[in-house]
Amino acid sequence: MANIGPVGKVMFRQKEREDPQCSKCQDEETNMHVAQCRGADSDDVFKTTMEGVDEWLKQSPKQMAIAIRELILAFREAREPIWTKLMTKE
Ligand SMILES: [Zn+2]
Repeated sequence: MANIGPVGKVMFRQKEREDPQCSKCQDEETNMHVAQCRGADSDDVFKTTMEGVDEWLKQSPKQMAIAIRELILAFREAREPIWTKLMTKE
């Protein structure tokens, strides 16, 4: 997150914004919130980002790619990873 600028919570604390809310959903904008926001077009942004991640994962061993992808999706969806997906042998 550091390469795209501070989140609303930080900008508000630094008096660079008038409020700490996310512009897409009005929850407090923290680093975690940016990855998990479900407001406005955030699903489209996440999908586009995952296309880049999937392209990068093609260089990884298949099972490692499956595990990384599952961990990212679990974080995005604020849920426990499906551990059996990570443990499956080819
Ligand atoms: Zn939001």
